[in-house]
Amino acid sequence: VSATLKAIEDAEALNAFITVLPEQALEAAAKADQLRAKGQAGPLTGIPIAHKDIFCTHDVRTSCASRMLDNFAPPYDAFVVEQLQAAGTICVGKTNMDEFAMGSSNETSWYGPVRNPWDQTRVPGGSSGGSAAAVAARLVPAATGTDTGGSIRQPAALTGICGLKPTYGRISRYGMIAFASSLDQAGPMATTAEDLAMMLQAMAGFDSRDSTCVDQPVPNYQQALKPGALKGLRVGLPKEYFNAEGVAPGVQAAMEAAITTMREAGAELVEISLPNTELAVPVYYVIAPAEASSNLSRFDGVRYGYRCENPVDLEDLYKRSRGEGFGEEVKRRIMIGTYALSAGYFDAYYLKAQQVRRMIRDDFTRAFADVDVIAGPTAPSTAFSVGEKSDDPVQMYLSDIFTIAVNLAGLPALSIPAGLDNGLPVGLQLIGQYFDEGRLLAAAHDFQ
Ligand code: GLN
Repeated sequence: VSATLKAIEDAEALNAFITVLPEQALEAAAKADQLRAKGQAGPLTGIPIAHKDIFCTHDVRTSCASRMLDNFAPPYDAFVVEQLQAAGTICVGKTNMDEFAMGSSNETSWYGPVRNPWDQTRVPGGSSGGSAAAVAARLVPAATGTDTGGSIRQPAALTGICGLKPTYGRISRYGMIAFASSLDQAGPMATTAEDLAMMLQAMAGFDSRDSTCVDQPVPNYQQALKPGALKGLRVGLPKEYFNAEGVAPGVQAAMEAAITTMREAGAELVEISLPNTELAVPVYYVIAPAEASSNLSRFDGVRYGYRCENPVDLEDLYKRSRGEGFGEEVKRRIMIGTYALSAGYFDAYYLKAQQVRRMIRDDFTRAFADVDVIAGPTAPSTAFSVGEKSDDPVQMYLSDIFTIAVNLAGLPALSIPAGLDNGLPVGLQLIGQYFDEGRLLAAAHDFQ
């Protein structure tokens, strides 16, 4: 823990952390030492980790990288925080992120952008960019993230680490600040599939405080990591994900090499089609903002969070607190979402988007009749430069073309490193059937 704290201090330029917790972490480390001395240490006892600043931590600032919550210290821990603490891990700090998890580059944070450790002029991806940078720079062995449309997998890809978005409902969302509730899912980020398995083991579980959490036994993920898992595995290659428009040639080349590796390991490659792929981004940008506009209505300057100075009346209090407390991207989402949900447009936008969402889910169901996992690039390009896409929201939204459909369908998926393009990491995405995280992790482990 002390080495970790020193490393975090030395890597300040990355801006990966919003809050560092030296006293709390050292105190926990002393307790972990005592457990070890008594022979009561578990596999994760004393392992330093970091939590994305979207997870509520008792009496510790939980900002969601927003000015709105800069002064917010929750009176309780999130389920994920409780679980990882119970497993013996030590939280050394809270990581930077895009404001309210809205973004793909970590540039929308109130606390400034995070830098990619591979090249500090570039972004680490987002929205879990602080966690990704912290793991990639080897400041911590593992960190938590959340993924609503790609926010674990895309930054994992851009920083050359592993990241898993579990099945929707696998991990309780209790205490995880809501962005788009029907899409949000917590997950682990680490350097190997084995470490993801250990983290998921601790994080997964049923919890009645999240009504969408599924009461299903948690398998032993480490036992699932059998050698030779790729042998005989039926791997679907969606034709829409390969040679798609906008995919960088270097990413394409890395995918071809990954396919060769899988074939040589005995995987059976099957061409499949996910015909509604191109509808995923437009559908997401109706559904996610709609849910966000509703979720974010709780930040009103009254109960907690930012409050403007000297409001003249209640309306002024609402308007200025929200106007000053939220950043530009968050406001853009609230406006889009409010519009899509308004009486005159609900059927044309929100209802239509839900219908297309079902079609996207059906595409996967059909594909999984013939294959065990689906493989493709995680992101269309490697890490881009800070500022390169920040003035063009639509370009930014397209960073998630390969990850978003998975959230709309609620499926599990992970990203693992698959070589370099011009010295920058490329991610391979593997998508699995509902609750098939064990098979995904085993395939990733064998690939590594
Ligand atoms: N980049 C997507 C967005 O901005 C996804 C973010 C996420 O998964 N939290 O909404």
